[in-house]
Amino acid sequence: MTTPVLPAIVPGGGCSNHFILRRTPYTVSLYTSLRAKETKQADFVSATRKLTALLLNEAMSLLPTFPRTIQTPCGPYCGLELPEPSTDLCVVSILRAADSMAESISHQHPGIPVGKILIQRDEETAQPKLFFAKLPKDIKSRLVLLVDPMLATGGSARQAIAEIKKAGVPDANIIMLSIVAAPEGLQALAAAHPRVRVLVGEVDQRLNERAYIVPGLGDFGDRYYGTD
Ligand code: URA
Repeated sequence: MTTPVLPAIVPGGGCSNHFILRRTPYTVSLYTSLRAKETKQADFVSATRKLTALLLNEAMSLLPTFPRTIQTPCGPYCGLELPEPSTDLCVVSILRAADSMAESISHQHPGIPVGKILIQRDEETAQPKLFFAKLPKDIKSRLVLLVDPMLATGGSARQAIAEIKKAGVPDANIIMLSIVAAPEGLQALAAAHPRVRVLVGEVDQRLNERAYIVPGLGDFGDRYYGTD
């Protein structure tokens, strides 16, 4: 098992490629705001943006860096260079709720390509079904940040990763970011795509009979877009 070089910890799911954001009073205060049922839409959006920024910060720390010595006006500085977001990275959003996270990432890295995947439950089979996928043409030469705020059963994420891999992206070049995860979703991803790295903000207790995360926060898309 590799030791993550992040201020993050490996959760109990037993997959060394899964990371959880380090809990601090700041992160817990953001989750308290996000989860409270009386939180207004504007505050929900604000907490989502801040948590996405924290997750993105950790995701960037998972990327390879290259040594680069530069000159300050007063002398040399031995630094590091990250991949260039607009040419080396892309975001893939699982519609609709994940557009919230994709927008925050685009705001921080203007010019980063954004792909979209729509997966919905097939009413006949009760299985997740792919309805639409539009990925960057050169996705196979990019590192992919796959975003979905709520990793519940893992069904959509599993299928989205399969679609990204079908487009030629190796497992090692995919990092999934979720704000809240259920243990069931993490286990499903560990079983289907064990080499894909998954970075989550908090891991909750379980799913309920309607596949909502408990305690979770309810329907993320409805709360973010004010459609509840
Ligand atoms: N999607 C949501 O919006 N909430 C959940 O709890 C699970 C999936």
